[in-house]
Amino acid sequence: METALAAATRWDADPATRAEVLNKAADLYETHLGPFFALLAREAGKTLMDCQGELREAVDFLRYYASRIPTLDRPARGIFTCISPWNFPLAIFTGQIAGGALAAGNGVLAKPAEQTGLIACEAAKLLHQAGVPREVLQLLPGDGPPTVGGAALTGGDARVNGVAFTGSTETAQIIRRAMAEHMSPDAPPLIAETGGLNAMIVDSTALPEQAVADVLASSFQSAGQRCSALRCLYVQDDIADGFLEMLKGAMAELKQGDPWDISTDLGPVIDQEAFESIAGYAAGREVLVANAAPNGGKFIPPTAISVKGINDLEREVFGPILHVARFKAEDLDRVIDDINWRGYGLTFGLHTRIDDRVQHVADQLQVGNMYVNRNQIGAVVGSQPFGGEGLSGTGPPKAGGPPDYLNRFCVDDRPRAEAPPDSPRMDLTDVTVALAQVTPPPGVVTTQDLPGPTGELNRLTTLPPRQPFLCMGPGNAAQDQAKAVEAAGGGQAVLADRLPAHHLENIHEIGGGVIWWGGDDGTAREIVQALAARPGAILPLVTGTPRADHVLAERHLCVDTTASGGNAELLAANA
Ligand code: NAD
Repeated sequence: METALAAATRWDADPATRAEVLNKAADLYETHLGPFFALLAREAGKTLMDCQGELREAVDFLRYYASRIPTLDRPARGIFTCISPWNFPLAIFTGQIAGGALAAGNGVLAKPAEQTGLIACEAAKLLHQAGVPREVLQLLPGDGPPTVGGAALTGGDARVNGVAFTGSTETAQIIRRAMAEHMSPDAPPLIAETGGLNAMIVDSTALPEQAVADVLASSFQSAGQRCSALRCLYVQDDIADGFLEMLKGAMAELKQGDPWDISTDLGPVIDQEAFESIAGYAAGREVLVANAAPNGGKFIPPTAISVKGINDLEREVFGPILHVARFKAEDLDRVIDDINWRGYGLTFGLHTRIDDRVQHVADQLQVGNMYVNRNQIGAVVGSQPFGGEGLSGTGPPKAGGPPDYLNRFCVDDRPRAEAPPDSPRMDLTDVTVALAQVTPPPGVVTTQDLPGPTGELNRLTTLPPRQPFLCMGPGNAAQDQAKAVEAAGGGQAVLADRLPAHHLENIHEIGGGVIWWGGDDGTAREIVQALAARPGAILPLVTGTPRADHVLAERHLCVDTTASGGNAELLAANA
């Protein structure tokens, strides 16, 4: 920390130099393809196809964020702690530190996952070689909690000006609590990308051969160790028997083994702990299909488990385990409700040939990234900005996309708003009633089509979320806050001026966050701590004028527009 502070906290190179250094790092990454592939296979168990995707994504992040540096018009925040997971040990490590924090000019304390320290070390070496000063990027490899030394990096030290975290939802909640305990309450950001319970719906008009291939890629590529991976497949009853037979046959063709072997489809899971936990989960369940595992190694074979629906999933099982449910055509909306009800919102897949159905499902589902008639993994930087909502992350803005991801790493220079004099107290019942009466705001705010390959639609939409903001004043400021939410394009605001902060722990309907403009840090900290004590999604405390990214949801839709075939008889009937 002292070294970082001695380096004037920030990376003070001019923007053009920062961009040049990141582009040079991208070149170095590419020329180090061999060592990276070897490390990714040996340390992270990645197949060659995964290695290629991983390196490409890391390089894309470097070049993409370098290209966005000229759009920045605010100074860096200071010191950012970046904590990354083992499942994208190069791409996410690089995206967080170089792409986000360094591009904006912050000093970075980088904490890679304990399982993949060598890959992180190689990446940091190349970033230094490209010209990132050593004091500006410091690598702190090691175990989660101990390295973070009594949570020093995530909040024990008020000199940390922000945290970028990618990993499990549970760890994000722990970090949020540590930040709430210690950091300045003046909203140092926690940018968290977390887990998901991702679903796919295959209706009776889909082309089964294509849907099966996409289910396989979505569930079993990278041995299911992707945050975006398909966990719960819904197949329409009318086609389920034949479809599952086809799936079973396709699964039998998957080759599991040494990831270094070019013919391998999926390798082992990351470590013994993961192996035991996933094997224990699968044991004793109603297995539809399970391949035989290769001898030795930490291999969990591709497995499909029969369930009634997503509510049977206890948690995110981070391995090659697919849950399969059947649904009746008339129950589609119930299925959508069930998926939304779980509170995650990362990826979703839909296979259908009915355009109206795509629209209907896209309008209803609260997920960050939706994919139609293709697999639901492997978001491409610049085309498919990636990030979830609810329990899956604090977004927007999404990583690897416009408009403003880098701005999260910059100082919010708008002054704290002044609170006008007191207004009457509102009691808790009123707030709960008001929250319950909130209706989802209508309409889409903006859509933007992003570049991508021919035959693929990539559409980013921002829209008011369903969940309301709580405007806590103090006093009459609550009215102004509600107006500010509306001005920023947001949906609903509920006035709760002078609500005692600790009551926030119990009002579960708050979905957007809290706005509070009081001057004293004691109350702000109390509010942050009450929010952090709540189970569920990580919600922000906004102490200034809310920006669009505070009050809007951001969704991405990716459609394979070349998908053809399908159940012609049904399509004709539908027309
Ligand atoms: P994890 O939460 O166990 O660990 C992530 C990182 O946090 C590691 O560096 C770990 O050392 C660190 N950590 C653990 N405890 C900590 C603590 N108390 N304080 C500070 N740091 C701590 O997750 P993982 O097993 O490495 O990764 C898998 C998870 O990541 C899955 O849930 C997956 O869905 C999620 N993930 C999400 C995304 C996304 O973009 N949404 C991408 C990749 C992975």
